Amino acid sequence: MTTQLNALQRYVKDQNLDFAYLSDPTTISYFSGYEGEPHERVLGLVVFPEAAPFLFTPALDAEDARNSGWSDDIYSYQDHQKPWEMIAEQIKQRTDGNDIAIEKDHLTVDRYESLQDALGFVQAADITPEIQKIKVIKSEDELKKMQIAGDWADKALEIGFAALHEGVTEKEVVAEIEYQLKKLGNEGMSFETIVLFGDHAASPHGVPGDRKLKREELVLFDLGCAYKGYMSDTSRTIAFGTPSDKAREIYDIVLQAQTQAIESIRPGVTAEEVDRAARSVIENAGYGEYFTHRLGHGIGKSIHEFPNIMEGNPLVLKEGMCFSIEPGIYLPEVAGVRIEDCFVVTKNGCEPFTQTPKQYREI
Ligand code: MN
Repeated sequence: MTTQLNALQRYVKDQNLDFAYLSDPTTISYFSGYEGEPHERVLGLVVFPEAAPFLFTPALDAEDARNSGWSDDIYSYQDHQKPWEMIAEQIKQRTDGNDIAIEKDHLTVDRYESLQDALGFVQAADITPEIQKIKVIKSEDELKKMQIAGDWADKALEIGFAALHEGVTEKEVVAEIEYQLKKLGNEGMSFETIVLFGDHAASPHGVPGDRKLKREELVLFDLGCAYKGYMSDTSRTIAFGTPSDKAREIYDIVLQAQTQAIESIRPGVTAEEVDRAARSVIENAGYGEYFTHRLGHGIGKSIHEFPNIMEGNPLVLKEGMCFSIEPGIYLPEVAGVRIEDCFVVTKNGCEPFTQTPKQYREI
């Protein structure tokens, strides 16, 4: 059993729970090592205070689960069978108690009620906060994987910059990045790659389209790559030709905001203090209303996870926490600038997972 699963089992025991039912495939892979994608079928991991945990998978995935290195029991069901009754039967063989916990941020109401019907419990506690607490501190092994995921993201940016030429469309640049990466053996992107030209980048989560690149505009890239289930996430904004003074001005402010935030990161500082460090730079420059999102988000096996780096989050940073720092200014009809890297908190500061230079650059 992994140290992480041990920690979860200890929590189940300390809380006098009879079992915890985990349903999120990302959580399950984190604790079990089995990377499953059940789609609409049922995948579960059940953790008891004393008895060994078990995995429950669709029958067509059982072999993969067995080959993943999971050494405890695996049960599976075929499509015509009743998964919830089968899960309940296995649970009842191990405990007759009904003090249970579930992932409230994942289990659907429909599935919760099916589990409830099969087991007869009245209500369930939420185990999500404890899972977040365990996940938030990354191990050496996780950090190594995140570093490789970051190296891939740097490579992706390099390919993206090289693909810029007059008349190319946003979609074509995305296609070029993903095609080249696949050929190099990349596992996959962390999320839909974003490439936005000029004022189109004024929408922070804009969707790449058929807009053609013109000279004298900014290009915003936001992308990430997966490596062994771990994610990277980075954004760069680069000039194609010489854009307007306004565009250049907001670039410099965003870079200064990011630099200020990075310099503030160390164990003992709170998440909101880091957000403030960046936000105050943008506010003081008069663009506060154009920075419309939190400064950053946690990252690991999921692209967005605990903790949020934002106003109102008093969470105290600790060594081993990983998150993005991504200030942006989005000026409607002018340009959008975002600069983003993910970091791990170290003993005295932080280290980035991506290295692509950030000084203002025209190509
Ligand atoms: Mn991000």
